[in-house]
Amino acid sequence: MTKSRLLVLALLAALGAGWVVFGVAASAQSAESTASQRPPGTNYQGPAFSFNKITDGVYHAVGTGKLVVMSNATIIEGDHDVLVVDSHVSPGGAWALREELKAVTPKPIRYVVNSHYHFDHSHGNQIYGSNVEIIGHEFARQMILAGKSHDSRAREFFVGGIPNTIKTLEGRAAAATDEKERALLQNQLAIQRNHLEGTHAVKPTAPTLTLTSLVTLHRGGREIRIMHLGRGHTAGDVIVYLPTERIVVTGDLLVEHTSYMGDAFFTEWIDTIEALKNVEFDTVLPGHGQAFTGKAKLDHWQMYLRDFWNQAQKFHKDGVPWEEAARQVDLRGNAPNYPGIRAAGITPNHGMLRAYEILDGKVR
Ligand SMILES: [Zn+2]
Repeated sequence: MTKSRLLVLALLAALGAGWVVFGVAASAQSAESTASQRPPGTNYQGPAFSFNKITDGVYHAVGTGKLVVMSNATIIEGDHDVLVVDSHVSPGGAWALREELKAVTPKPIRYVVNSHYHFDHSHGNQIYGSNVEIIGHEFARQMILAGKSHDSRAREFFVGGIPNTIKTLEGRAAAATDEKERALLQNQLAIQRNHLEGTHAVKPTAPTLTLTSLVTLHRGGREIRIMHLGRGHTAGDVIVYLPTERIVVTGDLLVEHTSYMGDAFFTEWIDTIEALKNVEFDTVLPGHGQAFTGKAKLDHWQMYLRDFWNQAQKFHKDGVPWEEAARQVDLRGNAPNYPGIRAAGITPNHGMLRAYEILDGKVR
């Protein structure tokens, strides 16, 4: 090999190495710029959230309805950065939260916790770049990786109907004779069309840091415990607990009203709520509904679950088909605690299907 040939090869190798380095830098840069780019589904007239201050540096972010976000977030400031609990139903929802949060604190988001794997709590994960750690239960990671946050009866029920909602609204807007009513319907249409665009843009993204029982973060003066107390709403719910402030963020393990039961473990859920009673807190920030104080709702939810499970077992034993059982189950005894219950039956009926799956030994 001649000396000049060697020189050319060395030069090519150097260039090649350069390309490799450059390539890595370019793709890292594009990952970061994708993370900061405005995603589809963000065509809305804000604000999307009201940030309800709970104590210094802790906010319960509740959707206003101007953008469909489908779940609450909780904001917890540390000395230098922020932890956010849950990422909503779409990248648009998560993006809106991050944008609107800038008016609340200049600190960057460093951690996102997924309270569980459901689509309405994890489908905004993708907007967070490589500087943000996404924390969740190991089960939540496995479910999201297996596509189960996306392909689920829960998502089908709550999101699958958007095209029909749009069609209905279009018909009503076209038929409206009153200007005010038409404008109202057009506004709802814009919100639903944007919601559809947002959900189409979802790329399910799994937690990058997982736990099975406990992780504690010490962010300057703020102690943040992320805990799994047992199976309940799903097999991998975590709560976020601030021991100094006596605040607990419960996801869907405990919400203001009744929680979805399509992926539930009924008897264990009752036990997990019992374990939650031993956590010393005053304030609950739920995944749906408004914040509340005290432990009365823990008893209410246990009573509801016991009532439902007892009836489900009886229907199952009597050979009643699950769809019929879902129509007949009568939870009106819980109406003093849950005024929304006015008739027999549950909607969606997934809770009864789930109960039968457990009683048939299909779920362990
Ligand atoms: Zn859920």
